[in-house]
Amino acid sequence: MKRCVIVGYGGMGSWHARHILERGAVELAGIYDIKEERVALARENGIYAYPSFEAVLADESVELVTIATPNELHKPLAIAALRAGKNVISEKPVTLSSEDLAEICAVANECGKLFTAHQNRRWDCDYRMIREAYHSGKLGKVTSVESRYHGSRGIPGDWRGKKEHGGGMIFDWGIHLIDQMFGIVDDRKLLRVYCKCDHITNDEVDDGFKLDLYFEGDLTARIEVGTTNFISLPRFYITGVDGTGWVNDWKDDCRLVLCRTWEDKDVAPVVTAAGFTKTMAPRDEKTTVEEWIKRPETEVHEFYHNFAAAIDGKATQFVTHKQLMRSMRVMEAAFRSDALGAPVAFEDIETEPREF
Ligand code: NAD
Repeated sequence: MKRCVIVGYGGMGSWHARHILERGAVELAGIYDIKEERVALARENGIYAYPSFEAVLADESVELVTIATPNELHKPLAIAALRAGKNVISEKPVTLSSEDLAEICAVANECGKLFTAHQNRRWDCDYRMIREAYHSGKLGKVTSVESRYHGSRGIPGDWRGKKEHGGGMIFDWGIHLIDQMFGIVDDRKLLRVYCKCDHITNDEVDDGFKLDLYFEGDLTARIEVGTTNFISLPRFYITGVDGTGWVNDWKDDCRLVLCRTWEDKDVAPVVTAAGFTKTMAPRDEKTTVEEWIKRPETEVHEFYHNFAAAIDGKATQFVTHKQLMRSMRVMEAAFRSDALGAPVAFEDIETEPREF
């Protein structure tokens, strides 16, 4: 079994360690962290703590390094690990620029080692259900997909509020939602990007954003993250000519309301203070039907199983360099658009087909 070291034993590093210990797709050789208290905690948890990063690199029994440090450190640590002959999983966002990402991928190819990023939210049930709704054909021609996370506790932690560490919500949650959106809308090119960042609790980095992606074939995707939303909008909302779908929260099933007919669609009007409306009155069950997509069972540790198999040449890694580059370039376009206050053209790249 592949021996793995986790570099950075903080919130996410300890999640990786726990998962590896519980699920066993790879073997946990140990961790490395610069903070004494994190090292002490690892030892309390019965995990070996390497004395230095050099010691990790020098351990020939280690084939895989998972990097779970603050974002600006992913690149130098990944390059050093690849050059030492390790395969590397980096936490997201894989880097802070496409140039940096290209450099890491070039080193990985030069060293003949695998490199990927932990896009674990491909295993989220809400995402999987909307992906199914998009591909079901039940909605007719899909016109929009909206994906949101709303919280009300500001930017979490310490370094996430600082630019020098690659903070901000585009890098933190945006990357997950962009990666998911490319998994849903996987059949068309992205043409334009428009983004407006929020600075409600933080001037230095975005504490939320509204990102619109304009795909060919008149499909618009909205990705929105907020950290001062005391009432949340639904997690996903998808519209097509013949139906609408939504997932209210990540614990919920996906509700579809599908059109039976565009012919006989008369309804009783809704009476408002200013008058009545039939246009905006909801349809009834004579002309629509409700269906549900049930939450699927997913197993996020497939990510490690897949990467271990890919190292042995027995599988293709789920999260590829091109997919990482496409999402990275969307984040860059989003920052450019926010600075300009206008949409920017996007020169799309072809990526490998995705299983999910
Ligand atoms: P954190 O602050 O809780 O942990 C970071 C750890 O890295 C700390 O223990 C710190 O001491 C250590 N560290 C800093 N510099 C180091 C160095 N040079 N060498 C070794 N260790 C070093 O942060 P976090 O919330 O765990 O986030 C870490 C990474 O994980 C980030 O990239 C973040 O975006 C990512 N993350 C991913 C997910 C996900 O769902 N995929 C969730 C949370 C965080």
